[in-house]
Order: sequence, then C-alpha cells, then structure tokens
Amino acid sequence: MSILVSAISEQRLWQRHEAMAAHGATPRGGVNRQALSQADIDARRTICSWARELGLGTFTDALGNFFIRLEGSDPSLPPVLTGSHLDSQPTGGRFDGVYGVLAGFEVLQTLVESGLRPRRSIEVVSWMNEEGSRFAPGMMGSAGFAGTRNLVEILPVRDVDGVSVAEAVAEVHRQMPEVALRPLGYTPHCYVEAHIEQGPVLEAQRQTIGIVTGIQGKRTFRVTVTGEEAHAGTTPHQDRKDALMSASAMLQALKVRFLDPQDITRFTVGLFRIEPCAPSVVPARAVFSIDIRHPLSERLTELGDAVAPLCHQYAAPCAVQVEELSTALSLEFPESIRQTIEQAAAELGLGHMRLLSAAGHDARYLHEQCETGMIFVPCLKGVSHHESESATSADLAAGARVLGEVLWARAR
Ligand SMILES: [Zn+2]
Repeated sequence: MSILVSAISEQRLWQRHEAMAAHGATPRGGVNRQALSQADIDARRTICSWARELGLGTFTDALGNFFIRLEGSDPSLPPVLTGSHLDSQPTGGRFDGVYGVLAGFEVLQTLVESGLRPRRSIEVVSWMNEEGSRFAPGMMGSAGFAGTRNLVEILPVRDVDGVSVAEAVAEVHRQMPEVALRPLGYTPHCYVEAHIEQGPVLEAQRQTIGIVTGIQGKRTFRVTVTGEEAHAGTTPHQDRKDALMSASAMLQALKVRFLDPQDITRFTVGLFRIEPCAPSVVPARAVFSIDIRHPLSERLTELGDAVAPLCHQYAAPCAVQVEELSTALSLEFPESIRQTIEQAAAELGLGHMRLLSAAGHDARYLHEQCETGMIFVPCLKGVSHHESESATSADLAAGARVLGEVLWARAR
C-alpha cells in the first residue's frame, strides 16, 4: 500500500459528505441542490475554503464548471482530471455526484499532506448541471467542455422561473470572484470518475469496487397524439377522436413489443399528460415520453426504430407525431484504464468486479475526448435519486483509495 492510500481518511471523507449534505438539506434527510442554485453556490464556497487551506487553485469557466487544481511539477502537461457533480435532483440523495468530487478532493489533500508531487497536475471538477432537473437536458457542463454541445445552445436554456443558464452562471461568478475564470474546455490526459453505483449489483455480489466497462445507451422520445374535444354524453364513440384511447393502445403495443424475458431492455413512460383533462370531456390531446435503454447499441437502435411505426399503427382515428429527443448509443471505456482500476483494487485487497453503468454520467462526454474510466462503490439496496440514498463510510473510503492509486499512476 502506498503512502498516499494509507493517508486517505475515511472519517474526513465522511464528515465532508455531512458538511455538503447541509447545503440544500431536505426535511427527509436528502438534498435539493439543483444546478447553479444558492445551495450549489454555498457548496462550492465550502469546498473553496478547504482548497484555500491547502493552497490549491480554484477555477471556473463560461459554463460554471468548477475546478480545484493541484499543480504538478510540469504544469505544461495536460492534467489528469477527476470529479463528478455537486448538483442533485429536487429530492436527491447525499452521495450521487458529490461523492466523486469529495473523493477526488480527498486524494488531492492526501497528496499535499504527504508531500507527494505528481508530474502532471491533477484537477477535480464539479460539472455544471449533470442532473438536468433545473435546466434540461442534463450533463450540460461536461458536454460543453468536451465540445459536444456549444454555448449558443446551452446558455439560453431557461428554468421554470425563466432564469437562463447564462444568468445563473453570471450569478455564480458574481458571488465567487475569488475563483479564476478561464477558457472553456481543454483535452485532459485522462478522466476518472468515482460514483455510487445507483444500482443493486455490487451489494448483491458483495463486492466493494465496480470497474465500469461502459455506459448503457439510451434513446428518448416525445409522442403527441392529437384528437378532438367532444361532449362525453352526446358524442357517439364512432364519431370520437379520443387522444387518450389512441395513446393507451400505443402504450399497450409498445409494452408488448419491448417485453424482454431476460429483463435487459429498459422501457419507461415517465410522463403522461392529457388535455383538457376534464371528467366529462373526450381528451383532445395526449403527450407522453418514452425512455428506452439497452447495453447493446445495435439492439437499442432496433428498439428505438420500432417506436414511430408502432405509434402510427395505433393512432387512428387520431393523428400522432413522434419526436426523438436524444440518442446516446452504448459506449465502452478503454481496457487500459479498466486494468489500472482493477489492479489498484486487487493490490488493496478489495473485492471487485466489472459492470456496465445502467445510468448516464458526465464520463460519457469525456470519453469522446480522452482516456476515460469510472469507479463504482455500492449504495444501499441500489437506491438513488431518492432522499434515502445511503452508502457506508468504509466503501466510500475504499473507492477513494482506488481512485487515489489510479490518479497517482496516471499523474506521477
Ligand atoms: Zn450522478
């Protein structure tokens, strides 16, 4: 075990999770710390004060991504990047995202205190708006950083109160003038993100470290069914254009089509609205969302391509419009970084296994830029995006130790 790893403090890492959980704390023990909110700014402030004590630099960019930098002995080399996100869902947990930032910070602190100086600089990042709950879609900061989406597309997006990303970022800059503004984006040497699993596999297999092989792909759609408003008492069924009846026929057909006896395909309709939504009026309009996920890109493509034809088949007598909102095919992280993570876990004597991430992460966009990998630790019953989200201090520290070894191996 290296000096670095033995100096990672389980207690300090845990206390920092508690300190972060106070920013946006909800009555039921979770957090509501949405992107660029006051709670998010306060969380950044707290981390800034810890960074200052250690003499670490802090930076931000045009998208409000937040960086803490440990300068390497050769600052001209591209940095090794780690981190995740400080923002949460409105009823989020205390570990999703924030763990990756705090684990990275713990590694920086350990390096500073051990007097170990890497050759490459190491930066810890909190990506702006991973969750997509205040501003949609999510992963704005990392997508903008990697150049997958541009500023013109991201900055005008508004929240429900009409505040734009541009305005919210300006407010962060205004409240934190001590954080230096620098140009958006660079090509890191590599990116490693630590995260709670948000699924039940590690716990069920009694393993501490998940070596993430890749990220499951996802396709999302919006379906709009248009019929005609009519009187519930006087309009014969043969004359009706009932948007709800057509939509429910579509849902039934989609459900049958996507039924997977092996339970690998994930098919979700999480949003469903009808108008005018009155008990004695035949619905004129139905809008619903479709979220399909599958680890094999080929299968995902095939499943997604079936959506529009099926909806059209069951639309009559209404009209239907199917819009594809996003397509992200499944991706595989490079074997080189998986092996480094695996080796670190093995050397530390930690139970480990390889697994696919069923949820999306900022690492998706960094993967397009540089060698990228992820480290998972277990969370209680796999529950996440929920106020009851829980993880043990021992598992969090174990993940930070593995992260420390990997960052050191890449930056030394
Ligand atoms: Zn997350």
